Amino acid sequence: MLDNSRLRIAIQKSGRLSEKTYALLASCGVKFNIHDQRLIAHSTNQPIDVLRVRDDDIPGLIMDGVCDLGVIGENVLEEETMMRERAGEPSEFKSLKQLGFGGCRLSLAVPNEMDYSGPKDLDGLRIATSYPELLRRYLNEQGVNFQSCMLTGSVEVAPRAGLADAICDLVSTGATLEANGLRETDVIFRSQARLIQCKAPLAPAKQELVDKLLTRIAAVMQAKE
Ligand code: ATP
Ligand code: ZN
Repeated sequence: MLDNSRLRIAIQKSGRLSEKTYALLASCGVKFNIHDQRLIAHSTNQPIDVLRVRDDDIPGLIMDGVCDLGVIGENVLEEETMMRERAGEPSEFKSLKQLGFGGCRLSLAVPNEMDYSGPKDLDGLRIATSYPELLRRYLNEQGVNFQSCMLTGSVEVAPRAGLADAICDLVSTGATLEANGLRETDVIFRSQARLIQCKAPLAPAKQELVDKLLTRIAAVMQAKE
């Protein structure tokens, strides 16, 4: 059973956001021991439980009020928000702070040999992505009709595999695109990690703890500037 008196923070178990998120909590003086296989890590010096989950589950845990705080990439947060809005499911949360790490962009990319002068050239084509909502918003604004091919991984190999004509995927350096014979054409969303809180009010003691954490995070981030 989870103890509801303790603050529950959802973080990515292992991936691109994990190390910096652990470091952020540590720099706020939150101590806990991570056991590799465990879902929950109890802080040893604060009334805080850390839930270690896949990043994709974090927005929903906050929007459903299962966890109090979460650290998540804005790309995943925005996609989940749009998906839930479309489905009529709870999609509210409080945005507390951009955290300055996990920077990346969601971009369209086409095969090197393809002629491309703008989004209109994608009309009627099939585009592979893990972010169908963000892609649809961007291309609808441009008046472009397209077919999407939903892939949760290996998006960059879809054109070569004959699954799609172009892709819409996360990029940081561009090396993966280059290695797959693709070139970036349009940045459709810029992202970094963000701290979010559930919409429902927290018990006063928990909210006080959140405010304290926020003050420390601000101080730690300022010291780094
Ligand atoms: P999980 O197993 O938790 O589902 P994942 O494979 O979906 O992990 P990661 O690759 O660890 O996710 O990326 C997590 C987040 O890190 C992304 O959603 C994005 O916000 C951020 N990120 C920063 N740089 C990159 C990049 N170059 N490629 C992908 N994501 C990046
Ligand atoms: Zn994921």
